[in-house]
Amino acid sequence: MLVRKMIDVNHSEVERYLGYKGTPSDGITSEMIDFCVSELNDAAEPKYIYRQYDVVFTESGGTCEIDIGRMKTCSSNLTHNLKGCTKAFLLAATLGLGPDRLIARSEITSIVKAAIYQAAAAAMIEAYVDGVNKEIKNKAFEQGLFTRPRFSPGYGDLPLVLQKDFAAMLDMPRTVGITLTESLLMKPSKSVTAIIGLSGRDTSCVTEGCEVCVRRGECEFSRVTE
Ligand code: SF4
Repeated sequence: MLVRKMIDVNHSEVERYLGYKGTPSDGITSEMIDFCVSELNDAAEPKYIYRQYDVVFTESGGTCEIDIGRMKTCSSNLTHNLKGCTKAFLLAATLGLGPDRLIARSEITSIVKAAIYQAAAAAMIEAYVDGVNKEIKNKAFEQGLFTRPRFSPGYGDLPLVLQKDFAAMLDMPRTVGITLTESLLMKPSKSVTAIIGLSGRDTSCVTEGCEVCVRRGECEFSRVTE
């Protein structure tokens, strides 16, 4: 289990989560964003954990199973994303309960502020995971391997029930304080789990994912499903 503090949040990412398209927010909103990001940084207790596993593809009766350690699943989107990968990291990261408390409090006093906290916290957990992802990229490189974009349960056809495997394999409640609700949502809410495939082929994937990659239209490994 590792801990980081002070997460650098991109202002325009928060605006994007708030629904601004192309035009920047007005001065008052912009100041509120800066204030909320600062408060969230004070309240957050970010933690992450990752572990590496072997990846094995098996095919029987026309269906392909993917084994990542003891995690077993069947997903055409993930098969695409992990094509050629022999190993993968499972990752879990969270901002802790502080941001959830700030959001809950502001929902009582100001719905506008609550929306900004929500957007800022969403941008913050993504920025945090991008940082962890870069560290994983370096770890892979030390082994002569290259990372694919991260892939989370619930994305495309990858079932959300895999959250249970993440919780058990990474011992999430003990290592990073993430628990699952009955409907498999994570608590704290600003948490992420992801599979990051490792391959011997350098595809120079961008950490932020296929959605922002210039090669997404032609790439055989793209996780973008449309
Ligand atoms: S589209 Fe870009 S980021 Fe996605 S798998 Fe291909 S090279 Fe990697």
